[in-house]
Amino acid sequence: MEKVVIIGSGCAGWTAALYTARADLKPLVLTGKQPGGLLTTTSIVENFPGFPEGVDGYELMTRMQKQAERFGARASFGLVETVDFSKNPFALTVDGEKVEAETVIIATGASHKHLDVPGEDLLETKGVTYCATCDGALPVFRNQPLVVVGGGDSACEEAMYLTRFGSVVYLVHRRDSLRASRIMADRALANPKIKPIWDSAVTEVLDVKQDKVTGVKLKNLKTGAESVLDCAGVFIAIGHGPNTEIFKGQIKTDALGFIIPQQGTMTNVPGVFVAGDCADHVYRQAVTAAGAGCAAAIDAERFLSARNE
Ligand code: NAP
Repeated sequence: MEKVVIIGSGCAGWTAALYTARADLKPLVLTGKQPGGLLTTTSIVENFPGFPEGVDGYELMTRMQKQAERFGARASFGLVETVDFSKNPFALTVDGEKVEAETVIIATGASHKHLDVPGEDLLETKGVTYCATCDGALPVFRNQPLVVVGGGDSACEEAMYLTRFGSVVYLVHRRDSLRASRIMADRALANPKIKPIWDSAVTEVLDVKQDKVTGVKLKNLKTGAESVLDCAGVFIAIGHGPNTEIFKGQIKTDALGFIIPQQGTMTNVPGVFVAGDCADHVYRQAVTAAGAGCAAAIDAERFLSARNE
């Protein structure tokens, strides 16, 4: 039986692993389908303390993993299918195998939200993408007009990154000002290759018949006017939803599915802790997720000590 199982391998997961490993609890980290989490899909991270020049998101996560493994954390590239938190030891099914654990730290993070408009799903990987750093350099986007949807830091970051490849980057946002932090918004709006399109929603991605992205249908939300904007790629950056589906009915969440800790990082199930974006719709930063991972590890360690006394 495992003393500590950590579900998720983003900033929260690997920091929890580092702390529980240093407490000699030999944590097992179940990486999920995106080892390293969302940060591995970002380019340069400029706001993680300790890296004055910035650090590549993938590199940061690789370093976190190495640091935790140095003290005895173990990574398993498994996907958790079911959990049973009704009694301790807790039971998890991971790729068909049963894993038992005295404590579990949920650090499953969040996933990209979808627009849910016609054409979006059918043209995914055919011009619709949720990750500029993963796909922006593809030949199909070179010197072509591109669309980024959203008004937050992610949308600004994606738009700036895409100016390296596209002929022009349209930033389509449903309001008339950006939600992004001041520094990101200023940078994006100062970039001559980025053209904001305000008060507008993408109502359809074209063209399913041609089996590739050729444009988007837009609706001006103030005037109701509809138009078509030609583009070769649509980069959707409208935020994230928590990855908490598998805990439904066992762990308390809010209406959006974010886990609600009850005491410190402990959930409504004693021995199950939570850290990072799956419990945070306010701060959602790499460094706050790392901090929460540290807190969850300390809480889990104290829970185990009290239990074994
Ligand atoms: P976000 O801050 O939640 O912004 C989402 C944006 O998408 C908002 O502008 C929102 O519009 C828009 N939106 C949401 N649903 C939509 C829909 N159905 N249709 C059209 N537009 C929609 O998400 P984020 O930009 O991914 O950022 C998440 C967190 O990560 C933030 O805390 C951010 O600071 C952080 N982050 C930081 C960096 C960095 O510092 N380098 C980079 C990326 C992300 P409204 O404004 O109208 O709500």
